[in-house]
Amino acid sequence: MTLISDFHSHVSRSSAEQMAHSAREKGLQILGLSEHDFQMNEARPLLPHMPLEGQMLSFAEYIEAVHAAGRAADIDVRLGLEVDFVPAKNDQIQASIADYPWDFLIGSVHEIDGKLFELGNGQAREEGELLWQRYFRLLHEAVKSGYFSLVSHPVRMRAKNPYVPANIDDELEQLAAEATRQDIALEINGSDMLGYPDLVRRLAKACVLHRTPISIGSDAHRPYQVAKAHQQSEELLREVGIKKVRIWKQRVPEEYEF
Ligand SMILES: [Zn+2]
Ligand SMILES: [Zn+2]
Repeated sequence: MTLISDFHSHVSRSSAEQMAHSAREKGLQILGLSEHDFQMNEARPLLPHMPLEGQMLSFAEYIEAVHAAGRAADIDVRLGLEVDFVPAKNDQIQASIADYPWDFLIGSVHEIDGKLFELGNGQAREEGELLWQRYFRLLHEAVKSGYFSLVSHPVRMRAKNPYVPANIDDELEQLAAEATRQDIALEINGSDMLGYPDLVRRLAKACVLHRTPISIGSDAHRPYQVAKAHQQSEELLREVGIKKVRIWKQRVPEEYEF
């Protein structure tokens, strides 16, 4: 058995159907589509500062396209959304998405006090280390919020900030312990895996130590990227001794062994 799921993928630069066809071709059995909240007409006014990635959709269009994609590509497709975690706006963001039949919700920290840290700003060491600490506090809040099925890319701060704090293993372990308490998953993210596998390994080890559920998500933004780091992720999970992957249907967690 190998990894048969991908629970982090985007449709706005192609389509749900193209993503599902690609997943099928790559041998996946279950695809979780998880477009950004800020690509949705109804939620966009709350997140006008997020860079647009592709076509805007309404929730109704997106949901219909996801369901149709599963039928067209003959693959089990699950309806998800990648939801921004922004303390000052969470109530409104959550209200905007509440009325739809999600299988899973990804919680994502993309900004820190208004700053989109993935854009990078060439910060010096002191500010870089502070950003990491602030990032972990927000990840904790996201884990504890009760909004989400999983919290995504927990080491994404590394993308543009090399000032990894000396206590990162403690931070990852505390995050993993909290996720276990809340019974939500942390994500082994394909983009992170390709960019800084050493940090993803430390995250995976923290999850092993605390028996934290994990989700596998490529973060594909185009069809060819579906499952893009699955081979490396699978090797890592086997190396550290993780044997189960969490997936969701109608917000109810399931797990499979690989
Ligand atoms: Zn993200
Ligand atoms: Zn994403």
